[in-house]
Amino acid sequence: MFEGPVQDLIDAFRRLPGIGMKSAQRLAFHLLKAPEEEARSLADALIAAKEKVAICSQCFNVSEGELCNYCRDNRRDTTLLCVVEEPGDIVALERTQEFRGGYHVLGGHISPMDGIGPADLHTRELIQRLGNGEVKEVILATNPTVEGEATAIYLANLIKPIGVRVTRIASGLPVGGDLEYADEITLGRALEGRRDV
Ligand SMILES: [Zn+2]
Repeated sequence: MFEGPVQDLIDAFRRLPGIGMKSAQRLAFHLLKAPEEEARSLADALIAAKEKVAICSQCFNVSEGELCNYCRDNRRDTTLLCVVEEPGDIVALERTQEFRGGYHVLGGHISPMDGIGPADLHTRELIQRLGNGEVKEVILATNPTVEGEATAIYLANLIKPIGVRVTRIASGLPVGGDLEYADEITLGRALEGRRDV
């Protein structure tokens, strides 16, 4: 344990997802050694993000207004809807330049172990979006993990009775991996090789 503000900073980093004790200490000491401006610009970016960034009312992506960039863009194909776990997955899919449809962010995956069920995700809103018949195909692009697969199966069973085509991105992505960190070629191929479920 360190004293006062140093430990507070380490604790703050540790609460972030994917940051263990070692990484938290490394980040804290990096910032303590860094010039004052660097620490200040990080703090400013955090505050600005919290103040200015909202959640898109349609797809639940991060947004600077009521609707995000993709929902506002009327050149996108509204017959295709790609379902992802987190906003970061959209960034990864956009890098492939293979997809021109819309998105829907679930806000996670079904995980009974963590007490996360379908009602904790934006599944109800997804079904509502399919209600007007505009979407012809839903591409399930949840992560290739046990939870991501289980979430995809759950959603497929929910959507198919509505009469909308449901596809799942092809395997070939590293199992247990995160879509967000897949390279654009692998992800582009997974999108291209999607199959009906
Ligand atoms: Zn949106």
